[in-house]
Parts: sequence; C-alpha cells; structure tokens
Amino acid sequence: MLNGGITGRVALSWLIAGVLLVLSGLVNAADIQSVRLWRAPDNTRLVFDLSGPADHSLFTLSNPERLVIDITGASFSADVSGLPLSDTPLTGVRSAPRDKTDLRVVLDLSRQVNPKSFALPPNQQYGHRLVIDLYDHEEPRETISAPARPSASPLPQTPSRGGSLGGERKILIAVDAGHGGEDPGALGPGGVREKEVVLAISRELKKLMDAEPGFEAVLVRTGDYFIPLRKRTDIARKHGADLFVSVHADAFTRASAFGASVFALSDSGATSETARLLADRENRSDLIGGVGGVNLGNRDQVLASVLLDLSMTATLSASLDVGQQVLSAVGGITPLHKRRVEQAGFMVLKSPDIPSILVETGFISNPGEARKLVTSSHQQALARAMHTGIRDYFHRNPPPGTRIAAMKSNGQLQAQRPREYQVVRGDTLSLIATRFDVSLSNLRQSNGLGNDQIRVGQILKVPAGSMLVKNEP
Ligand SMILES: [Zn+2]
Repeated sequence: MLNGGITGRVALSWLIAGVLLVLSGLVNAADIQSVRLWRAPDNTRLVFDLSGPADHSLFTLSNPERLVIDITGASFSADVSGLPLSDTPLTGVRSAPRDKTDLRVVLDLSRQVNPKSFALPPNQQYGHRLVIDLYDHEEPRETISAPARPSASPLPQTPSRGGSLGGERKILIAVDAGHGGEDPGALGPGGVREKEVVLAISRELKKLMDAEPGFEAVLVRTGDYFIPLRKRTDIARKHGADLFVSVHADAFTRASAFGASVFALSDSGATSETARLLADRENRSDLIGGVGGVNLGNRDQVLASVLLDLSMTATLSASLDVGQQVLSAVGGITPLHKRRVEQAGFMVLKSPDIPSILVETGFISNPGEARKLVTSSHQQALARAMHTGIRDYFHRNPPPGTRIAAMKSNGQLQAQRPREYQVVRGDTLSLIATRFDVSLSNLRQSNGLGNDQIRVGQILKVPAGSMLVKNEP
C-alpha cells in the first residue's frame, strides 16, 4: 500500500515534468494567433498577437515595395483575410516558415513607408504583441492646412492694447478623445470601452463648438487608432488651439466610485489620491498603446525646465479658471466627484502655452454610470455642458484678435442666459448654490422660493453673473 503510493507519486511527478517540457517547447515557439490593423491619419499600425515573446528583425525591399519581418522561433496561424486594407499602403500579408523554426512575414505595399517596430509586453487586455508602425511619407493634408497664425496668448489679458483687441479669428478648441486603437482605456461592465464612449462625446462637443458663433473645434483623434500622449499636444499646437480638452471616462479601484471631475496639471504633487491614481493610469497610455522608440527624453526636459517656468503659471491659472467653469456646467447634468478642479501630473496636459483640462465624464467602472455613458442622450448632455462651460469662459476671457473679443468690445455678446438645473436625489439648495458658485439668497430669489425646500426633478433657474463679478478685475 505504502509502496504503491510512492510509486504512484513518482510516476505522477515524471508525468508532470514531461507535460511541462512539452508546454515549454510550445511556449518558446511563439505563434502569431491574430493580426489587427489600425489606420491613423498619418500611419498604419499592424499588431501581431503572439502566444509568447519572440525576437524579430525587419528590412524593406523595392520594386515592388515590400516590408519583410523575420521572427525567430515562430509560427503563423492568424487569419488575415478580413483585414481592412483599404485606405492603407498595405495590399497583402503573406507568411512562410523559414529555417525550419523561424518565420518570415512579408507585407506587400503599394507605396514607400517609414517602418518602425517594437514588442509590447502583455497587459490586462492583450498578451505579447509585435507592433509594426508604417508611417506615411507625406504629411497629412489636415496638418499642413492648419491656420498659421502667431500664437496669440490665450491668457487673461489687460484691455490696454489700443483698440485692436478684436479681429476675425475663431477661438479654436482642440477636443482630445482619450485612448484609442491598441489602448482601449478603461473597460466597463458589459464590454463598454472608454475609447469609444469618449470619441462619441468628443464628436458631439465638436459639433456644438462648430455651431457656436466665433468658435471652432478640431478632433485630436478622429477614429479608432492610438496617439502617443505627446503627439496629442503637438496636434493641438499645430492647429493653434486656444484650449485643449481631453475627454475621459475612467475606471476606479472601487466600482462604487462615481461622479464627473475636471483636472488641470500640477507641477507639485496631486491634490488628492484619486487624482494621483488617475494621472498614473492615464500616463501609462503610452506603455499600453505602445510608443516604441519615440524620443520622450531631452525635449521634454527642456520644456519642463525652461518653458514651464516662463509661462506655465499663467497657463495653469487659465486652465483652472476654464476648468471650474466646465465643472460647474457638468455639475448641472451629472453628480460631481469633487466640486473643485483637481490637479495632478497628467502628461497630456503639459502644454506650456495652451490652457489644458482633462474632463472625467464619469467612472465607467461604476455599473450605473457605464449604463448612462453609452446612451447618446447622456453623451449629448455631457457635450452640451462642456460646450456651455467653454463658451462662458471665453466670453469672459476672449483671446485678442478673435471675433469674440471684437464682439465683446462692441457690446455684441449676448447677455448670459440663466442656466437651468434639474434637482437630483441628495441635492440641497445650499449644495446647488455652492456648485454653481452663487449665493443661497440669490438662488432663492431667482426661483421665488420662500424656504430651502426642493424636490427631485424640480427645475431651478441658476442665475448667471456671480462668477463673472468675482473674476472680473
Ligand atoms: Zn482615460
């Protein structure tokens, strides 16, 4: 009995060792299990999903144009017949075994490209990946035709520059839908993906800004592809943006966490633990989405040391100001996580000369908020609130040389209409007064209230002007 037990155990351990040997053999031979393709305005990204890590090398061939990728110890079992090749320089993907254990993948191309490749380690959503970026030779037309203008300071100005404050230029808002492509952002219940929700909200916001007299908007990301954080601010600068708004809907460690927030940059620590966690998470986007060999080194340090000192204080103060205005407006349609603009070291907000805010439209990790965030009615409401906050800020602080500045100096700006707010569960009149930065008595008076009792669903008029008075010199 005892003997038999030992023999059994020995046999079992030999069996396990044998299985492990076979398994490790399989793991070493990285299999390409799927191929994904993302088209961006100036590049095409191919992602090979591998069953394990593998070394690779690549070279190009001409007449006809081809890119050859040799992968050590690999096999190819992906189906590439469904890849969306139209509008890309790719015309086909072929593969063949090479030297018994290695693999050669050939990309057939219709034109020359600048290839770049790198491996990405596994993350929450994907395993080992090999990324091939094919950069187009010519600059996208969109970028070249950007309005060239001297970068006028969008910061609060003193009205002392003669009578030439006005002009014809529109105020330009860069709307940055977070994440995209290989970086899905936060994942909510039922497969809700942040990158899709925020692109929908951003498109709505662009529509509203374009329809607003004296304003126009550009989308930093126009589809489902990855953009490195630093490139997002570059795109805003190339367009001469007066404001950079990054739109997000993140996850939090507690599923119960809820509410919208607005963030600005901090150069010295975060204003809360939540802010720090979210900034860390956002800043990982380049690792998740894959920046490869992009140089994030020297230039950033120069920016940090020189430009930040020169203009960051003024830019930051404008960011906090516009952020508070957006936060107040967003607070009118959805609960707020915090009533003040929070600050943390968000990489994407580090433009020294463009006021920049990041709007968390809600926590997609919260099942209730995720359900709301996917509806187009809530997406539109969020966009409308952001539009109102942005418009009100620039009506008070129009950059010199803009049509809004001219309208303001001619007294043509519409008087600000009172905002409306629908009471939700948990509201008190004093909470609403604080949220909109109006006095309690002013709020009572505007609504003809004899006392502070309000009911859920009630529509309140929120008087405009108190912030205006407070902020005007
Ligand atoms: Zn995000």
